[in-house]
Amino acid sequence: MSRFRMYPTLAQQAALLEHCRHARYVWNLALEQWSMWTRDKRPTPSFAEQCRQLTAARAVFGWLRAGSQTVQQQALRDFDRAVRNFYAGTHRRPMWRRADLHEGFRIVGGQASRVVKLNRTWAAVNVPKVGWVRFRLSRAIPAAKSYRITRDRVGRWHLAFAVVPPPIPAPGTGEVVGVDRGVTVSAALSTGELLSCPGLSNREQERCKHLQRRLSRCRRGSNRRQRVRAAIARLYARARDRRKDWVEKTSTDLARRFDVIRVEDLRIAQMTRRPKPKPDPERPGRYLPNRRRAKAGLNRGILVSGWGGLVARLEDKAAGRVEKVNPAYTSQTCSVCGHRAPDNRESQAVFRCAGCGHQANADVNAAVNIAAGRAVSARRETPARISLKREPQLATFA
Ligand SMILES: [Zn+2]
Repeated sequence: MSRFRMYPTLAQQAALLEHCRHARYVWNLALEQWSMWTRDKRPTPSFAEQCRQLTAARAVFGWLRAGSQTVQQQALRDFDRAVRNFYAGTHRRPMWRRADLHEGFRIVGGQASRVVKLNRTWAAVNVPKVGWVRFRLSRAIPAAKSYRITRDRVGRWHLAFAVVPPPIPAPGTGEVVGVDRGVTVSAALSTGELLSCPGLSNREQERCKHLQRRLSRCRRGSNRRQRVRAAIARLYARARDRRKDWVEKTSTDLARRFDVIRVEDLRIAQMTRRPKPKPDPERPGRYLPNRRRAKAGLNRGILVSGWGGLVARLEDKAAGRVEKVNPAYTSQTCSVCGHRAPDNRESQAVFRCAGCGHQANADVNAAVNIAAGRAVSARRETPARISLKREPQLATFA
């Protein structure tokens, strides 16, 4: 993806939003058709069939006809792609597109190449039925066959060309790095570096909490509620931007510096790091709370999302050089002598080996173990479509 910030005029914004609305409508319609399918019904309409239905619908409804056929047809094609990805097991089930949340559409083919450079800082793209919309030239315009225009929740417009940038070449030094995902620091490297993914500052978090309290007191549908919601969305967008920026910079840096990057396999980590059930001594067969829900809390969710993003971008940028390692016991094992004991981990931050007395930052020690770790085979050990939250079933899948 190669993304540019767009600056449409007010009239253009209205026209672009109309495109978004049509794309969303067509997508949701396709999703409805698809999800209404049951065993006793005939197959759901194919992409070609849906295009024919779209043509028929455009003949009947003036408001649909007033929109761009490219935009509407492309929404169908995107949906078709989403369904294929879902069946292939690489993506999750297609979701409903919601106003304000999923505003965007795609332009492909000849229409996607109508781009001109105005001067050193500005260029313009000719969007069907909208006209020339200016965007800021923050980088060179790539040669792409399609682009996507989106509006985020804060109202910023972006233009993204679909190009896959060439992967970053390996430095060729043979150096291996292990990366451990941490709680207080976002990532610890086996070199001893501690990286933290920026989020909201304490003051910003306070403000966010304050705004959320205020939101809960606002009347539904009121103007005030809308204003408060917009303010919260701006804060979230700021955190998201910072996280994204950190992920891009860190992944590029790692891909440039190291030949092999070993990370923990999160799919396995989810299973191995489940807190043990605590039996209740007074009532046999019953269990005490083990703070399992707390562990799966919101904060961790945010951390994981930054981590997942980092691994995904690493796999793009350092293609074939990222290895996933089974993270079991990496935090309890001494990286010097290999002694493994739960007491090795003195506290959240400090690791002290009971065997040899080696002392280090706990996350760095884990990162060194990961760097030395045995890579999990390239094939996933769990089938992609099986939810990890489920208890292991008898092998009915094959
Ligand atoms: Zn030791």
